[in-house]
Formats: sequence, structure tokens, C-alpha cells
Amino acid sequence: MESNLGRLPELLLFGMIAAGANLVGGLVLIKAGAHRFGERFLKYLVALGAGFMLAAIFIEILPETVSLWTGSRSGENAAEAVVGAMTLLLAGYLIIQLFEHTIAPHFHFGAETHPESFMRPSAAYTAVGGLFIHTFFDGVSIAAAFLVNFRVGLLVFIAILLHKMPEGFTVASIMLASGRSQKKALLATAAIGAATLAGVVGVALLQAKVQSAVAYALPFSAGVTLYVAASDLIPEVNHNEERNPTVSIVVFVGVALFYLLHKLIGLLDGLTAVRLG
Ligand SMILES: [Zn+2]
Ligand SMILES: [Zn+2]
Repeated sequence: MESNLGRLPELLLFGMIAAGANLVGGLVLIKAGAHRFGERFLKYLVALGAGFMLAAIFIEILPETVSLWTGSRSGENAAEAVVGAMTLLLAGYLIIQLFEHTIAPHFHFGAETHPESFMRPSAAYTAVGGLFIHTFFDGVSIAAAFLVNFRVGLLVFIAILLHKMPEGFTVASIMLASGRSQKKALLATAAIGAATLAGVVGVALLQAKVQSAVAYALPFSAGVTLYVAASDLIPEVNHNEERNPTVSIVVFVGVALFYLLHKLIGLLDGLTAVRLG
């Protein structure tokens, strides 16, 4: 793990790509006017993203978290240490339940088709505000993973990137459904992107001051990611006006692709290690 700010340009680059995908998602809705093709494409991206995120949490982030928290401890001591990390994970999960679904009156991923839910003018802003918290932690996840090492960072970045376009699309569609202008819809999408970037920069700056910042940021943001994958994206996959099992299959494809990528990058890592050693 590195603590200096030398990694900041690299982190900013990946943060900017993720934020850019939010904007592209908003533009797809506004420019194409929720074109059938665009909507269909994003549905598959949501399913693929859900599979990638679930796999990233369980075969990438959690093993790294356990290793950070146990260090050289073993047995009862190690189990005791892991309780702290898992409590942070639970807290990360619950904070999104609070902001997206307890405080906000109405939120779901995908095209907003319930304008009646946004009769109260502030309702759309509350929904976007909840998503703002979630996207901030998208950025935290990306930066924390890169600070563990480049391999973990790249895999977590790809997993999160896949749902960034649908996310921008969701924000723009909430704004339009509540009667806001296209310009306001695009501004809200830009704000969501900016929150992602703020999460990346926040972790990088914190890690420069507090050596162990990553150890806390990683499980907490994993809890957020778990919520997004299992409680926001999967319901969107399952909720189809016309039953469409192919979208559901894409979740499994996402998990399989992530696993292959994980193996492939591990293999390349091993090869370079051999050559350097
Ligand atoms: Zn709705
Ligand atoms: Zn997100």
C-alpha cells in the first residue's frame, strides 16, 4: 500500500472515466429521448453490472478486506478483528437503504415512468440526493481498491463502471419525469458524476493523512456496492413488464466474465512477478 499522493493522477483518470459514464448515460436519455434501443442496451448493462459487482465484492474486495484486518493475527483474534470490518460493511449497506429508500420517497434504477410519485416538487431532488450519496461511495470504492493494489483497483473499477451509464440515465429520467428541463436533467447528471470524483479524491487525500484509511473505506464502500448490486440493480433486472429471462441470464454472464478476468489478471501478475524475480 502507498500513502503518498503520487497515485492521485492515476486515481483521477479512473474517477473521471466513471464520472464521464454518468454523463453519457444522461445524454443517452436526453438526446435519444429514451429510445427503445438505448433502453434495452442499458437493461443489459444493469444486469452485467450487477453480476460484475457481486463477483467483485465476494472474490476481490472481501478477501482483501479480511487480509487487511487480520494481518498476522490468527484464530479467535482474527475472527474478532473481522467483526469490525463486517460491521462497517453492514453500515455501508444500511446507509444506502436510509438515503435512497427511507428519506427519499421513490427511487428505482432505470427509466422513471411514475411521474405521479414526483407531485411534490422536492421529491425528485430527494431521490437524486440519495443517489448522490451512493455515487460518492462508488468513487470511494474505486480509489480504495486502487490503493490496495492496481489489479484489485482495475477489477473493481470495471465492475463499478458498468452501472455508471444506467445511473446517469436514471438521474436524467427522474428529473424529466418530475417536469424539469433537459438542461436541469443534464446538470443533475453532472452533479452525480462530480460526486463520484469527490469520492475518489476524498479517499486519496484521507489516505495521505491516515495510513489506515483504506482499511475502513474498503469494507464500508463494499457494503454500499452490495446494496447497489443486490438491492437496486437485481430488482431492476427482475422487474420487467414483459418477462425477459435473457436479461437475468446476463447477471450470470457478468459473474462468469468477472471470474475469468480475475483469473487472467492474476495470471499476468504471476508472469510479470516471475520475470522481475
Ligand atoms: Zn418510478
Ligand atoms: Zn453507482
